[in-house]
Amino acid sequence: MDASRKCSADCCENAAVTFFLQRDLCLNHFVLRCYEDLERIDPRGRNGKGSAEDIGALKSFAEECSRKALEISLSGHAVDNLQRGRLLDILLWAGEVVPLEAEQRAKAQVG
Ligand SMILES: [Zn+2]
Repeated sequence: MDASRKCSADCCENAAVTFFLQRDLCLNHFVLRCYEDLERIDPRGRNGKGSAEDIGALKSFAEECSRKALEISLSGHAVDNLQRGRLLDILLWAGEVVPLEAEQRAKAQVG
């Protein structure tokens, strides 16, 4: 990892630990970004007017999330338990959001 790369989030001076969704992000902003987007696509969290993203895009986003979260955890950038816990949380969440979405769609088609 190139240590000179900075997080691309506004006003953030932290070093980037990953390249995610076309942006260099520090660990905190990666976590934030994942939480925001997972929240948005999680069928349990939707309030009716959910987006019309297709399952393929959703799946690749979730896969990217878990892949990066795993990569960061293995790279040793997550130094404290809170950060490690959040990465694990993202891994698990990304792993369950796609099956949930597929299940909801299947139900919607039947009923
Ligand atoms: Zn940052």
